[in-house]
Amino acid sequence: MYKIISGKEVSEAVKLRVADEVKQLKANSIEPCLAVILVGDDPASRVYVNNKKKACEFCGIRSLEYVLPAETTQDELVALVEKLNEDKTVNGILCQLPLPKHLDEKTILNLIRPEKDVDAFHPENVGHIMIGDFNFLPCTPAGIMEMLRYEKIDLDGKNCVVIGRSNIVGKPMAMLMLKENATVTICHSRTKNLKEIVAGADVIVAAVGRPNFVTADMVKEGAVIIDVGINRMDDGKLCGDVDFDACKEKASYITPVPGGVGPMTIATLMQNTITATKIQAK
Ligand code: NAD
Repeated sequence: MYKIISGKEVSEAVKLRVADEVKQLKANSIEPCLAVILVGDDPASRVYVNNKKKACEFCGIRSLEYVLPAETTQDELVALVEKLNEDKTVNGILCQLPLPKHLDEKTILNLIRPEKDVDAFHPENVGHIMIGDFNFLPCTPAGIMEMLRYEKIDLDGKNCVVIGRSNIVGKPMAMLMLKENATVTICHSRTKNLKEIVAGADVIVAAVGRPNFVTADMVKEGAVIIDVGINRMDDGKLCGDVDFDACKEKASYITPVPGGVGPMTIATLMQNTITATKIQAK
């Protein structure tokens, strides 16, 4: 019998905790503030930015939104990030990805001051994660770890397979699972015997970006399945990377899409904004 891990439920718990911390900070005349930059009019990015704004409202975090036209130049974007870096009333800076092709994503991400880097994409923060000594964790992997803790799923000695090796999901996910003493395998587009590897997993994290990539024949009886994928289908519906209906019958725990990892990513962003605020208040 499987259990659905509700990202909605766990994220509410995290956001309530954050809201409580915000109250305490405000009682000490500190007002946490998150600045979000959106360049261009990508509809999915617009939805993500709106959801971040709503979460800020829920938690009592001041949110600033900078919506720039798609033809914004690199110099203009650099100038905005530098201005926000200097602004003492801004604690967290997030630049919504992807940026339009003519902009250099790496330069922008590296420009955000590490102590305001609430996405934890700056190389300095990435380095801290590698050595297990960090202030911020990337929002999606950290949100997944929070879900696992909430469900008391212990990773010690477990075989965890992460499918996908991106800098924002796959790689940091593997590091966080390793820190919890799991044996971690990362699979990617060049992995040869992916089915066999996944079939041996106690915990599967799918972050590929392909609908129904993980099928029931790849899943071991009793596995925990975390679906990171967000794929928009022709009918407009969202679908994950896991064939949910078939895989759930073999799983012990499984996350849905939507309502699984997505809300956790945003809740962790709120948590990171508070962490940034506290660091800067010191
Ligand atoms: P990405 O495109 O950067 O990485 C995809 C990874 O999948 C790559 O490392 C690639 O090697 C691997 N891959 C591609 N084809 C494969 C194959 N045939 N076999 C094995 N591996 C293969 O994507 P990303 O940014 O890591 O995101 C992955 C998915 O997660 C996307 O659907 C994205 O929308 C979603 N996402 C969701 C959240 C959330 O909050 N729920 C956050 C970030 C990303």
